Amino acid sequence: MDFSIPQETQALSHRLQAFIDQYVLPYNPAWHHAVATGDYPPAFLGDLKTLAREAGLWNLFLPELQAHEPGTRLSHSAYAHLAEIMGKLPWAAEVFNCQAPDSGNMALLHQFGSDAQKQAWLVPLLDGHVRSAFAMTEPDVASSDPTNLQTTVRDEGDSLVLNGRKWFITGAAHPNCQLLLVMCRNQGSVHSVSSALTSIDGPDSALKHHQHSIVLVPLHTPGVELVRNISVVHHLAPEGHCEIIFRQVRIPKSSLLGQWGEGFKMSQVRLGPGRVHHCMRALGQCELALSMAAERCLERETFGHHLSDYASVQEWLALSRIEIDQARLLVLQVAWLLDQAETERSQLMAKVAAIKVVAARLQVKVVDRAMQIFGAMGLSPDTPLAYFWTWGRALQLMDGPDEVHLRTVARHELHQARLRMGASSNYFTTPEQMTRPVNIR
Ligand SMILES: Cc1cc2nc3c(=O)[nH]c(=O)nc-3n(C[C@H](O)[C@H](O)[C@H](O)COP(=O)(O)OP(=O)(O)OC[C@H]3O[C@@H](n4cnc5c(N)ncnc54)[C@H](O)[C@@H]3O)c2cc1C
Repeated sequence: MDFSIPQETQALSHRLQAFIDQYVLPYNPAWHHAVATGDYPPAFLGDLKTLAREAGLWNLFLPELQAHEPGTRLSHSAYAHLAEIMGKLPWAAEVFNCQAPDSGNMALLHQFGSDAQKQAWLVPLLDGHVRSAFAMTEPDVASSDPTNLQTTVRDEGDSLVLNGRKWFITGAAHPNCQLLLVMCRNQGSVHSVSSALTSIDGPDSALKHHQHSIVLVPLHTPGVELVRNISVVHHLAPEGHCEIIFRQVRIPKSSLLGQWGEGFKMSQVRLGPGRVHHCMRALGQCELALSMAAERCLERETFGHHLSDYASVQEWLALSRIEIDQARLLVLQVAWLLDQAETERSQLMAKVAAIKVVAARLQVKVVDRAMQIFGAMGLSPDTPLAYFWTWGRALQLMDGPDEVHLRTVARHELHQARLRMGASSNYFTTPEQMTRPVNIR
């Protein structure tokens, strides 16, 4: 791994930071006012997007863009640095059309969309004219294990018919949201999946991972009901984390993304780069929290001493610095591995799982220390800390809870141990299982 940051990436980072400082940050009070008064999205957001696009700071996240598609075509490692900068001001990512979950949805459409689907959805998403959401989690089943998902899609002549309920669907309340990518269980189609499918966990596991499809559903289709925007630790996100019901939702068959039964396989595409983006944005928030805490304790005095004189405070600052730097190296390593075509998949997925755990836990820890240094003010809306803490806490669940990611890392480690132990391990019953890639889900 090359640890140096290429000159072009450094130059772009400086340009992005300067753009945010000059144009975006001055609007921060207006942004919060607009959200509080329901004037969302505020008109100035459109102006900022136009300016960002003219400045060449647009669609920074997608390396594989075609020549006619707008964007910078950066590597994952280069984009990671920019994601950290954008993370410090959470609404800034939309100015550059790099916001989740649209970035992941664009990656999916880019790789698996038909020409007609790309024309209908990818083009306006890349232009920043519409927003989208990814609907997987359901209230009625434990969605950490997505094979549980129950929302159904039925094949009826020229149509697909959906029924079910989803929740915590980020982005669905955004006034420009027009598209839902919905993960559905195929109804009556299980037998179309090849019975030859196997995984190291056995044929049942392989079959379970081929029972779901992703369907493109326009948000305003009859039968789609946006029930509510769910607050997260009492923070109500303007773009929403929504509960949505699908009642006999009928859409054309051409709305199926990719192949029938390939929903899980396709959704993996969102995960690697998407987690690097989440983690780097989280690290940006950790950096801001640490710098705010360090500055605060230089000006605040108790019992005749600045807070910075106390050993406990110094230890918090030091640990935060050390842990942020450790985490950044780990995330950048994963970004770099994603850029290397030959990276072995199960190793990559274990590392992707690891960074998600590290960054989410770190954010809660670093921001919590900063809150303590700020005293009561740290819990108020007068600093971004309470929001950062909430987001870090949510990150421990979003895109799968920590425990599932730890399981992925552990299973990879155990698989390596079993390979080393060979026949003395009781894990493999046939020699060919030893050479088959492990199913790490
Ligand atoms: C702010 C926010 C935004 C979100 N955005 C989206 C979105 O846009 N789209 C979407 O589809 N979903 C979204 N989610 C939902 C999120 O992905 C799910 O909450 C998550 O996958 C967990 O599913 P669950 O809530 O059903 O928890 P459950 O599956 O019920 O799990 C509960 C707990 O069980 C434990 N557990 C589960 N499996 C294991 C295991 N193998 N070992 C040990 N313990 C285990 C974990 O502690 C876990 O937290 C969002 C969530 C939040 C908080």
